[in-house]
Amino acid sequence: MATNTEPTTGDSMDSKDYDYDLIVIGGGSGGIALAREAAKFEKRVAMLDFVKPTVHGSTWGLGGTCVNVGCIPKKLMHQAALIGQAMKDSEKFGYTVEPSFAWETCIQSIRDYIGSLNFGYRTTMREENVKYINAYGSLLDRHRVKCVNKRGEENIISGLRICIATGGRPRVPDVPGKDLCITSDDLFLRRTAPGKTLVIGASYVALECAGFLAGMGYDVTVMVRSILLRGFDQEMATKIGENMETYHNIKFLRGFVPQEFTNELEGDTKRIRVNATGSGSNAGQAHSDVFDTVLVATGRDPCTSGIGLDTVGVKLDDKGFILSDNEKTNVWSIYGIGDALSGKPELTPTAIQAGRLLARRLYGESTLACDYENVATTVFTPLEYGCCGLSEEDAIARHGEDNVEVYHDHVLPLELVIPRSEEFGFVKVITLKPEQERVIGFHILAPNAGEITQGYGVAMKCGLTKEQLDAAIGIHPTCAENPTTMATTKRSGKELKSGGC
Ligand code: FAD
Ligand code: NDP
Repeated sequence: MATNTEPTTGDSMDSKDYDYDLIVIGGGSGGIALAREAAKFEKRVAMLDFVKPTVHGSTWGLGGTCVNVGCIPKKLMHQAALIGQAMKDSEKFGYTVEPSFAWETCIQSIRDYIGSLNFGYRTTMREENVKYINAYGSLLDRHRVKCVNKRGEENIISGLRICIATGGRPRVPDVPGKDLCITSDDLFLRRTAPGKTLVIGASYVALECAGFLAGMGYDVTVMVRSILLRGFDQEMATKIGENMETYHNIKFLRGFVPQEFTNELEGDTKRIRVNATGSGSNAGQAHSDVFDTVLVATGRDPCTSGIGLDTVGVKLDDKGFILSDNEKTNVWSIYGIGDALSGKPELTPTAIQAGRLLARRLYGESTLACDYENVATTVFTPLEYGCCGLSEEDAIARHGEDNVEVYHDHVLPLELVIPRSEEFGFVKVITLKPEQERVIGFHILAPNAGEITQGYGVAMKCGLTKEQLDAAIGIHPTCAENPTTMATTKRSGKELKSGGC
């Protein structure tokens, strides 16, 4: 995309003509990182953050999605589910426990922790000389931002540069009765137990929420429109689905989309009837069931409408995400970072890195751009899935089947061999043959896959090859050692055996 790095005629480049050197709209992972880094260069920085309540009235404090309704509560709930599982597993190790779970206690502990994070951010902003404004921002022109606070009071501030870091919010399909459903924005603040839950969607948010809810003991069904984890390695996605279904009591209703949600009274209890219709090869079929909670996790829309981007002519893609080149938009004074950007991984560390590096390029000597390639990520399903680089499908599409080698193996976690000996993981390493078998894809389904994948992701940034992987001596007995001992290629057709050392 052509970006305009030159000031448009008439715009002053003297920051003294503006209230601030930089105005950041959005106080989430990216916005906070950018604002703090810019302030380190002694720039005058203002950061606006405002949370529009959900249809159910859920709202939260400073820190954005990750802290309040994303990574942090999600990981803590995943942990709660793992503890529940460990209690069940403990019997075979000689313990006697009677697991019971109180949602209210879990939520309270998590909200207390998040409250401390919100407070910490507000304090940090003050200490680091970032002017935090709890108001909704919209652009009036290339330099002026209208701020509206929760009492509806308006204020206009100006900045030499403005960065849009407004992130995204859940998208809910326009189906009759949709307001009976909740999204992840409500789930993490919900004070009462969800009960029998339908999760609609089949990607990161849907599978993670389904995983921890089932782990806590709730009856969970996932309604899948097409495939699990679109964009991820599909062999791994299939194994995740099988694992969740077989070992973690999660039901999958495949090939259906919701058609209507209605209230249904059972005695004094309000429940939700979901009528669904078949999609794809199920076209023409119907399904109906009643749930206590319906969680819609069908993707996220960027928060880019109604904030004046059209007024100043910032270009967006067809889904409303901001088009950018090195975080610069086509309008010279306007930048963008994080989930609001088009074509970038929607992940917290990406938003933080992009924000910090942008500040260093704008105000320091740095020319270092954010590298969005090979970003490691983990889906926190009951058995976690970590990956970095290309899926097998993408590797073959990009480089051709003859140039790609796929090594694969079962992973036999020692944690599971006694309580659940049939449940095992999987690992896959994809290399590029013409480049000394450089590792271009890493995939692991195992306990603590997030912890494992980070290190391999760093190695991939350093250009890891299969030879180097083989030369590394593993740590025994861990799942993390498996990628260092992989000998079976998929091409060989050899059967994979599971076994100990
Ligand atoms: P956000 O964090 O969304 O922050 C944007 C802020 O701007 C918000 O506070 C918003 O209210 C505010 N805002 C919006 N418009 C305006 C306006 N006009 N004026 C003022 N303020 C405004 N990522 C991971 O890396 N790991 C995970 O495990 C993970 N888990 C997740 C789980 C869930 C359920 C979800 C939904 C996301 C998860 N993510 C995870 C993704 C991660 O949360 C996002 O990538 C990250 O928060 C993006 O940061 P951001 O700064 O772009 O936007
Ligand atoms: P995604 O866009 O990744 O997935 C949307 C899912 O909803 C897909 O399974 C899609 O199915 C389905 N879907 C979309 N529309 C409909 C519909 N009308 N009816 C039924 N199903 C539908 O969204 P997520 O919300 O899961 O994740 C958003 C982003 O948040 C991720 O890309 C990720 O970057 C970030 N995130 C990161 C996490 C982590 O790091 N662990 C955890 C959670 C989120 P189909 O395939 O058929 O289109």
